[in-house]
Amino acid sequence: MDCIFCKIANKEIPSSIVFENDRVIAFRDINPVAPVHILVIPKNHVESVQHLNEEHYDDLKEIFKAIKEIAVKEGIDKTGYRVISNYGKDGGQEVNHLHFHILGGETIGKLRC
Ligand code: C5P
Repeated sequence: MDCIFCKIANKEIPSSIVFENDRVIAFRDINPVAPVHILVIPKNHVESVQHLNEEHYDDLKEIFKAIKEIAVKEGIDKTGYRVISNYGKDGGQEVNHLHFHILGGETIGKLRC
C-alpha cells in the first residue's frame, strides 16, 4: 500500500519521532502551524475516524494515552492544546491514514488544519 504514514511508521521515510510504542507512533508535522505540532498515528493502517470499528479500539486507547504523555513531555499539559482529526474532502484530510494533530505552545484561537 502506498501510504506515506505507513512508510513513516515503518521507518522507510525519516521523521522527527517524539513517541513510539508497539501500536502508536508520533512525529513532528513537517509543516507546523503552531510551536508544538505533532501527529499521532496508529501503526496499523486505517483511513480515518469514519473507518474505525471495534478492531481499532485498542489502538485508539493507546493513541489517547500517548497524546497525554506527549503533552507532558512537550510542556503543554498545563497551558492546553487542541486535538484535531480531519476526515474526507470537507474535513480537509490530505493523508488517508488516521492521524490526530496535537497543536499547542501558543493560544490556538481558530481552526488551522
Ligand atoms: O489532516 P491532514 O491530512 O490535512 O494533515 C496531514 C498533515 O501531515 C499535514 O499537516 C502535513 O504537513 C503532514 N505531513 C507530515 N509529513 C509528511 C507528509 C505530511 O508531517 N511526510
